[in-house]
Amino acid sequence: METILSVKNLNKRYGALQALKNVSFEIKKGNVYGILGPNGSGKSTTLGIALNVVNKTSGEYSWFGGTMETHQALKKVGAIIERPNFYPYMTAKENLELVCKIKGINYAKVNEKLELVGLTDRQNSKFSTFSLGMKQRLAIASALLNDPEILILDEPTNGLDPQGIHQIRDIIKQIASKGTTILLASHLLDEVEKVCTHVLVLQKGVVLYTGLVDGMSANEGFFEVEADDIPNLMMVINTHPATKNIVQEQGKVLVYLKENLEAKELNRFLFEKNIVLNHLVKRKNSLEEQFLELTQKK
Ligand code: ADP
Ligand code: MG
Repeated sequence: METILSVKNLNKRYGALQALKNVSFEIKKGNVYGILGPNGSGKSTTLGIALNVVNKTSGEYSWFGGTMETHQALKKVGAIIERPNFYPYMTAKENLELVCKIKGINYAKVNEKLELVGLTDRQNSKFSTFSLGMKQRLAIASALLNDPEILILDEPTNGLDPQGIHQIRDIIKQIASKGTTILLASHLLDEVEKVCTHVLVLQKGVVLYTGLVDGMSANEGFFEVEADDIPNLMMVINTHPATKNIVQEQGKVLVYLKENLEAKELNRFLFEKNIVLNHLVKRKNSLEEQFLELTQKK
């Protein structure tokens, strides 16, 4: 798979404060990446360095396999890292046409991108009349005018109402479904969970995890089970080789696993031991629980 951005051992100091410590990661074409971390963890600094607006202290990064100069490569990158800023007295359409003029892009792209972000109806309204959500959508349209290889967004839903948040997330998913690589920074777990395929967890400038959102936890999940005879149920489950430990909670038995076990296998095992279950559900910890687990280890 083609590498879009490669970052190796990046360090950043602001005076005495070390904002990034040996940050390394790879962005591959076609995936949706989230940089997830609490405020101050170094997300914006990381994006700023890759976009050449913040100076690194040490380390390396390269765009598109290092085949071109950074300023050339950045022409293939669409980024929104600050609050969207357009001319307030000009319409949405006029603002985008101006961007086309400056960047030498065909005006035909304006309609296409307005449609994509759902602003066709409001194309002739002045920017100053737009809600924050609409301004953000216009910024996304603007960043996409030249059909970039990758779209970079820093906290794209900050300050928006629930409907605005939903619209932005839908648009991001739509852009991704067309094959554009996406890198977004967010302090919101559920945002990363809903939008991203891959995640990089940052805490105080240190990478705690990089990989699939689904693979963030090493744990195999757990079962929630119920039967009439709880003590017998617990005793029998304890004899299963996949069982790590058992917890009784509000009339239910929670079975934590040390290796993968499917619900039907557990069901068959218990049935063969004359136990009939009233309830059987397999669960995995939410990303939030996994995230807390990760950050508490440090
Ligand atoms: P995030 O985007 O995850 O909230 P930032 O990258 O903005 O984190 O900040 C990381 C750390 O670097 C924070 O402790 C922040 O206060 C500090 N920092 C960011 N920018 C500057 C700056 N221009 N000067 C000094 N410290 C900064
Ligand atoms: Mg930030």
